[in-house]
Amino acid sequence: MVALTGCKKDMGGSGPMMGKDDAAFTIYENNFLDALWKRNPDWATSVGYHKYDSLLYIPNEQSRQKMLEFAKVEIDSLSRFEVNSLTDANKIDYKMMQNQLEYAQWQIQQLKAYEWDPSSYNVIGTFAYILNEHYAPLTKRLRNFYQRMTNVPLYYKEAQKQIKNPVAELTSLAIEQNLGGVDVIEKDFADSLKKTDIPKAEQKLMTDRAALCVQAIKSYTEWLKALKNDHPRSFRLGKDLYEDKFKYEIVSASSAQQVFNAAVQRKKYLHGEMAKISRQLWPKYFGSKTMPTDTLVLISAMIDTLSSKHVKPNEFQSAIEQLIPKLNTFVKTKDLLTLDPTKPLIIRKEPGYMAGVAGASMSGPGPYDKAGNSYFNVGSLSGWSKEKAESYLREYNQYILQILCIHEAVPGHYVQGVYANKAPSIIKSVFGNGAMNEGWAVYTEQMMLDNGYGNNEPEMLLMWYKWHLRSVCNTILDYSVHSGSMTKEQAIKMLTTEAFQQQAEADGKWKRVSVSSVQLTSYYTGYKEIMDLREAYKLKVGDKYKLKEFNEKFLSYGSAPVKFIKDAMLAKAPVAK
Ligand code: ZN
Ligand code: ZN
Repeated sequence: MVALTGCKKDMGGSGPMMGKDDAAFTIYENNFLDALWKRNPDWATSVGYHKYDSLLYIPNEQSRQKMLEFAKVEIDSLSRFEVNSLTDANKIDYKMMQNQLEYAQWQIQQLKAYEWDPSSYNVIGTFAYILNEHYAPLTKRLRNFYQRMTNVPLYYKEAQKQIKNPVAELTSLAIEQNLGGVDVIEKDFADSLKKTDIPKAEQKLMTDRAALCVQAIKSYTEWLKALKNDHPRSFRLGKDLYEDKFKYEIVSASSAQQVFNAAVQRKKYLHGEMAKISRQLWPKYFGSKTMPTDTLVLISAMIDTLSSKHVKPNEFQSAIEQLIPKLNTFVKTKDLLTLDPTKPLIIRKEPGYMAGVAGASMSGPGPYDKAGNSYFNVGSLSGWSKEKAESYLREYNQYILQILCIHEAVPGHYVQGVYANKAPSIIKSVFGNGAMNEGWAVYTEQMMLDNGYGNNEPEMLLMWYKWHLRSVCNTILDYSVHSGSMTKEQAIKMLTTEAFQQQAEADGKWKRVSVSSVQLTSYYTGYKEIMDLREAYKLKVGDKYKLKEFNEKFLSYGSAPVKFIKDAMLAKAPVAK
């Protein structure tokens, strides 16, 4: 399947020059990717590779065996390259590919979520993507949609056969998500057909097939609802699986346990700093009123007071539009890194099909569309109840709104994305490391404040600490729940009293941690690793250290695990620009 032109590393005699073949490695990568997409058509569609849009694989033992074969063949092929002879960029690609293949094996052989996670069976996301993303003419996309529907009834029939003792929370989630998205096939597809000149007879075939799919999805959810499950598997992943999943997904130099321990220390440190600032600010906001003796109560009162400074509901988007240029100017004035004026950020109202996600989010160009636009999607608060809008705006108050824009846009996710798109590697985009992405965004929040953003106001720092506690507590929560036995009650208590979250946010977080694992640790783990790397880099380069140079060099490797970037950055002597 894969044309292999690399040299065998153990052919003997010729030493390191044998594998020194970056050109061969690049050819291999391209073949690897096409083979990967053929095996994972859904993933391919979502990254903008549309050759296999019409394919839908049946989830069963046979397809898992094929995936295992694929992983084995590719791991073999990789092993024929001498990794140390490749360039830094290719070396990182190599390690990311290897990790991804081993992760795939582990998921099938150890994790076995196909037996206990009914929400892993859902065809709708890809159909929604085909319908909503304008990458090809509508008629073409609708015909692919039609082709792809062929296997849907069989897909759900096989899904039922795979499920053994499902997690109750994931069963509910599967019902909610499959029914929640069924409109895409039941309604949106037919609506889109009407906008085309596809012949009526063909349209009839298409809508008939859609009806069969809707039936299949609904009967899957009915089957799940009726499923007798006297001894459901716990939603907790367990210590061993958790450590392994953390290893493959986060790709950290530390274990999950070590990161958890660091997060616990960080929480203590933040509480200490927050208490100091709150004591200092107290007279300014509360005059001679008696200061609470409990420091958590004191901090909470201070945060509550500062949260009342916020924009009006109809000013949310315009406030963001005004902030971005200020952030750009600050980054330039302080010479933190180079911004590329040819890749502007477009701030827009959140498109309808995304509505209901977060208040603001980034969507950057995909791996196969690197010239595409970067959008900052801002949700509208129109139509919200007064109470809901007020609570939301208190959360995204004057201080946090600025931090949100740093995190999402400048110099957070958007800027990282622009740099990543200059790294030519598709591998780094499609296997992009979540901890590096989130870690960078969190790192930039602190970097901006450290350089005087917000005029060193203690209010700003206190509110950043509050926001930062969210990342830290996400890690503590995720580990304690999945590797330990933290109860819902304990979790809500920690989030509301120690991380100063509103009840609604804490409830939402509990729901998230009961249907996901590991991802919540990415923010703090990535942040910590970048801070550690920067310290090590400073030591290495001594007097020649420049923040700008560190930032740009770090970003130049693309969305790779911090651990691999660290290997590359600390290995070589720094080259002056
Ligand atoms: Zn208010
Ligand atoms: Zn983020």
